[in-house]
Amino acid sequence: MNRIIKTTASVLRIYPYSRSSNIVDWLLRDGRRMTTVIKGACRPKSAFLGQYDLFYTCELLYYSRENDGLHIARECWPLKARDGFRSNWRATACAGYLGDLICRAIFRSTPHAALFMQYNQCLDALAKRTQAAQILAWMELQVLNHVGLRPHFSRCASCGAAPQPGMAHGAFSVAAGGVICRNCSTQGGAALKMLPGLSRMLHSWQQAPEVRSAVNTICSKQQILAFQKILGRFIEYHLDVGGYGRRVALAAVGAADTKES
Ligand SMILES: [Zn+2]
Repeated sequence: MNRIIKTTASVLRIYPYSRSSNIVDWLLRDGRRMTTVIKGACRPKSAFLGQYDLFYTCELLYYSRENDGLHIARECWPLKARDGFRSNWRATACAGYLGDLICRAIFRSTPHAALFMQYNQCLDALAKRTQAAQILAWMELQVLNHVGLRPHFSRCASCGAAPQPGMAHGAFSVAAGGVICRNCSTQGGAALKMLPGLSRMLHSWQQAPEVRSAVNTICSKQQILAFQKILGRFIEYHLDVGGYGRRVALAAVGAADTKES
């Protein structure tokens, strides 16, 4: 039996369903991911025109269908349209990557408390054109937290050793799952070089409840390239997502991951 449900939701992705209808992937207020079809969305007199678009947050009324996971939107109206995205392709490319990352990494119907607030914070910050590289990295770390793939930045991911006073671990192993100590890094296996201070910075972003702490961090170009490479490799290896959308987003930020080690 179909139930009618009212909720607040943010748009993650939109794609065509037929010549006149769209599919929308939503992130609900309780941190679940959900998909609706919007029938007749592309018709000239559709009641949905202007009521939803990429990266809107909306009030949504939908018929919940138990069987196939594709629910039917009945009505929606915007709470936040975030006009900054309509004139800034760079911000749109970044938000597009985050929406896609959440769709690919987060299982449908599993609630992730705080994810809705985190995604909305990132959308607000990106729409204001601030520190996009830091915003992307912070959100990637939060998504990894939600799926239980938290990279280790404080202790050696291989043997658990704490760094010597004043000497952070100088390498990151994607396969081991985090920074590794000098002993472990000499035992073979590919490792990426960590810049001084980088593991502490990423560890603090990982634990920061709000994107503000990443936005307020001033990073050098070298640091940005280094954390983009580390997180990109980690996500590709453990989640098998990223790819083209991430490369477009990083190119939009202005510091593309160049794939060298
Ligand atoms: Zn070690």
